[in-house]
Amino acid sequence: MTFSIHGLAVAGGIAIGRAVLVASSHVDVAHYFIQPEQVEAEIERVRKGRNAVVEELQRLQVEMPADAPHELTALLDVHLMLLQDEALTGGVKHWITERLYNAEWALTTQLEVVARQFDEMEDEYLRERKADLEQVVERILRHMKGVADPVTPSASSPRRKTQQELLLGDTQDVPLVLVAHDLSPADMLHFKQSVFAGFVTDVGGKTSHTAIVARSMGIPAVVGARAASQLVRQDDWVIIDGDTGVVSVDPSSIIFAEYGFRQRQVELERERLARLLHTPAITIDGQRIELLANIEQPGDSAAAVRAGAVGVGLFRSEFLFMGRSGKLPDEDEQYRAYCEAIAGMQGLPVTIRTVDVGADKPLDKGHKDGHLNPALGLRAIRWSLADPAMFRTQLRAVLRAAAHGKVNLLFPMLAHTHEIEQTLAQVDLARAELDARSVPHGPVQLGAMIEVPAAAIMVRSFLKYFDFLSIGTNDLIQYTLAIDRSDEAVAHLYDPLHPAVLRLVADVIAAGQALGKSVCMCGETAGDVGMTRLLLGLGLRSFSMHPAQILAVKQEVLRTDTRKLAAWVGQMLDGNAPAAALAS
Ligand code: PEP
Ligand code: MG
Repeated sequence: MTFSIHGLAVAGGIAIGRAVLVASSHVDVAHYFIQPEQVEAEIERVRKGRNAVVEELQRLQVEMPADAPHELTALLDVHLMLLQDEALTGGVKHWITERLYNAEWALTTQLEVVARQFDEMEDEYLRERKADLEQVVERILRHMKGVADPVTPSASSPRRKTQQELLLGDTQDVPLVLVAHDLSPADMLHFKQSVFAGFVTDVGGKTSHTAIVARSMGIPAVVGARAASQLVRQDDWVIIDGDTGVVSVDPSSIIFAEYGFRQRQVELERERLARLLHTPAITIDGQRIELLANIEQPGDSAAAVRAGAVGVGLFRSEFLFMGRSGKLPDEDEQYRAYCEAIAGMQGLPVTIRTVDVGADKPLDKGHKDGHLNPALGLRAIRWSLADPAMFRTQLRAVLRAAAHGKVNLLFPMLAHTHEIEQTLAQVDLARAELDARSVPHGPVQLGAMIEVPAAAIMVRSFLKYFDFLSIGTNDLIQYTLAIDRSDEAVAHLYDPLHPAVLRLVADVIAAGQALGKSVCMCGETAGDVGMTRLLLGLGLRSFSMHPAQILAVKQEVLRTDTRKLAAWVGQMLDGNAPAAALAS
């Protein structure tokens, strides 16, 4: 049955493929394709895992005391029955043989299929057996971890099918799109090198960190698609329109053809933009604009250079700290990561932001910090200052890496003068600690994120302490308008054009200019081509964004004459400009 779901468009482009439903609890499971000759070995891995669980349960049955409650013995019987059930075992074989999924992926995929069948059962008792099935699969997965090493992931992604093949609905070797209820930013990162051509999640706002990571991957994505993970079935054909936020499920051949055409248009546009790679970003009236990259992992920096970035304007270092079950990276590990990012930039500057966990970036998956309002809680610099020893470990690592290239050190979410003073004192202390150990370190420029309204309003006193500023519009908008950036229910109120936001931005830029200090913008607004002319009109000369956006923004820069923008920008600041003027 054809239907469409509307969500929030967060990463542009069109993805056409079959749905892979991944339960939030199974996003950690490896997803990769095996080679045809590995099929037997993968089936064997599942069989061994299953047999181990059968033995374990049978042992439990034997050891069960005679007076054990009847429910317990019945439960073991149910689990054993489910383990032998053809619906599970046959299905798993199907995914491995026909689709070349690795064993764990095949198992969790089949779990989703069978779980849906349980959901649809009339009988309540049978419906509740879904939980048993999930437990059984968990056990198999646990055993499989111990059973022989998984086969090496195949480096090759599935070959993209032609439109004709797509229309024929061939079941093998077609692109896949991932549909999940929720994905944390770390989960998303986990899928970075994966086989998926697109992403859909039920929850998430436009500038949630999950959306940001999706955008950085340059793969079409829609978040906030409400019940998508309920409505879409495993293996359904799905078209993700990452520009409009529309997800078409089981589309008709006409819709297929239309999107296939649009997909090719996007490709052509990309090829056209690639010609701007070596063109300097200078406006018609000769203003030189700095276009920098936002990165999440050290290995991203080389790709940033290839995309035309003249430096990294924001390295979100927190991704080094996430998903490690609390075991944070030590000084040497961080030092190596920062050195890798610096080396990848080949002499271009790298701005490393100190760790910004909390709010929608939990350190560990499923870890809720228990605070009522995490976005207003112990996140970013507050978290770092709450544990000065941990903070200085990071500072020492950055200072050491600064001996190998141009490094700027950026602090997130500062609001108070005493926070600034404590932060700078920790930097001095970190330097002194390195000196005491006779460890070489390099000079760094120090910068503050302006992402809390208090910081924007007090920007002149911030400038006394810092060499540069970076405007974090994602949070600045969230905190100015009191809109949770990761809540799709209020996403329509999240407005970068709100005059209050624009005035704060304008004032920060003007204050920096007056003192000859650089002001960059590294929030998502900086990479939004619809905003480029306005930001140039506000005086912004340094933009940091996902590498994939750089050439499109450059194209806007090349078309802009900043001398002609003053009157319109004045109207925008007053909230009087017609919205259509933005696009013209
Ligand atoms: C911002 O808030 O705009 C920003 C760049 O930081 P983050 O998105 O990581 O919070
Ligand atoms: Mg921020």
